[in-house]
Amino acid sequence: MSADLATFSKALDATYADLNASLKKLPRTYQWRIEQLKALKRLLEENDEVLSQAMWKDLRKSASECQSTEQGVVLAEIEFTLKHLKKWMRPKKVSTPIYNQIGTSHIVHDPYGLVLIIGAWNYPLNLTLAPLVGAICGGNGAIVKPSEMAANTSQVIADLIPKYLDTNFFAVVQGGIEETNLVLAKRFDMIFFTGSGSVGKIILAKAAPHLTPVTLELGGKSPAVVLNDADVEVSARRLAWGKFMNAGQTCVAPDYIIVTQKMRDSLVAQIIKSLKDFYGEDAAKSLDYCRIINSKNFDRLLTLLPGADILHGGISDRTSHFIAPTIIAATPESAAMQDEIFGPILPILVMDDVEKILDFINSRPKPLALYLFTKDADAVQRFTNETSSGALCINDVVIHMPMASLPFGGVGASGMGHYHGRFSFETFTHAKGVLKKSFLFDVPLRYAPYTKLKTRILRWLFK
Ligand code: NAD
Repeated sequence: MSADLATFSKALDATYADLNASLKKLPRTYQWRIEQLKALKRLLEENDEVLSQAMWKDLRKSASECQSTEQGVVLAEIEFTLKHLKKWMRPKKVSTPIYNQIGTSHIVHDPYGLVLIIGAWNYPLNLTLAPLVGAICGGNGAIVKPSEMAANTSQVIADLIPKYLDTNFFAVVQGGIEETNLVLAKRFDMIFFTGSGSVGKIILAKAAPHLTPVTLELGGKSPAVVLNDADVEVSARRLAWGKFMNAGQTCVAPDYIIVTQKMRDSLVAQIIKSLKDFYGEDAAKSLDYCRIINSKNFDRLLTLLPGADILHGGISDRTSHFIAPTIIAATPESAAMQDEIFGPILPILVMDDVEKILDFINSRPKPLALYLFTKDADAVQRFTNETSSGALCINDVVIHMPMASLPFGGVGASGMGHYHGRFSFETFTHAKGVLKKSFLFDVPLRYAPYTKLKTRILRWLFK
């Protein structure tokens, strides 16, 4: 172990021991949760500029995109939670069957205890602090590990959290794979991970020895299907926005488009028009167009282009990690169609038959999001009933993600579990069933010696 890692390990041991010792005094109260949520809100409001600057340094993310996809989303999540938490925390009375009379039953949501939150770099603030809102509203303490790849944002989060939140219960640790593995060797009461499927498997394996419950927010190839009756102009603008924002480094970005032959050329022309409207003739000169996070990802993305039929873009600059918004004609065999792209390269596939499109989507791992552009109610019904994806969004992309009223999460290869709003409260708590019986009427039916009559009555009671 290197000297740096040894120092990290020692500090981690101390932090973990302190938090665990405090857990016995975890307040659990509505008041404490509200105080922590309000403190997190102040953290975001008082440091808005510092946070935006950090994300500019990490991803060249504009202040406007920071509002719409980072600080703004977490603030909206906090507001929603502040408004509804009291109701969520109320024990929920449920019916009590006849065989448990005289009795009352309800559901109580217990905090897990100490949770570990591991964030991704592409929305480095949102994907670290939105889960933290969930952990707080569930009444938990947390260790937060932001992504080392968005190093500037990670540092600001590490500096600010101890200044605002209760340090008895919240801490930030920073680091890469080796550090994360030291953290994962500790026992947590719950792990919330956002990242790739390959690392998701590692997280699950590390959680297994402690039987720690895990939520995995993963990625994958989210398809967008454009049918003949879609409004081409609006569809193209929304697709261009969702695909190229954050330079395509969005877990729910439309990874590729399936379009009919009839619509293909007009859709591509309209996407190109939208890109020029958004970023001008040269996206490299636009202050609104992000950069690729690092050279490793830049090089990976460029391996998808040789031999591809480039319809637009294709220009890049390694020094600045710039890859122009790029559209390519593709087939299912194309290099860009094998793994999640996670960058500004948009493959266009042509398929005319809805049956074939459904078969194609269903033959691939379940995506985090599925997008369908159509006015046809039957088509909407078919895609709703005959596909499985983390979310289904009709006639738009990505914009379902920040909604606190919808669960956000994947299924199959795109993840397990979900969060946002009430779903975060449920994810970060254990739903404990509580039955309270009276001492009266201790009917002897269930006790031996059993008789035929008792069996007959029991059969009737459990119907
Ligand atoms: P990643 O899996 O490489 O890293 C995520 C986190 O895991 C980081 O904090 C990193 O430090 C840690 N990590 C990386 N390798 C590790 C290892 N071997 N052992 C232990 N910890 C390790 O993911 P990323 O590159 O940060 O993000 C990109 C992926 O995340 C994409 O697949 C994307 O679709 C997905 N993603 C999903 C969501 C979602 O909400 N579902 C959001 C953003 C990104």
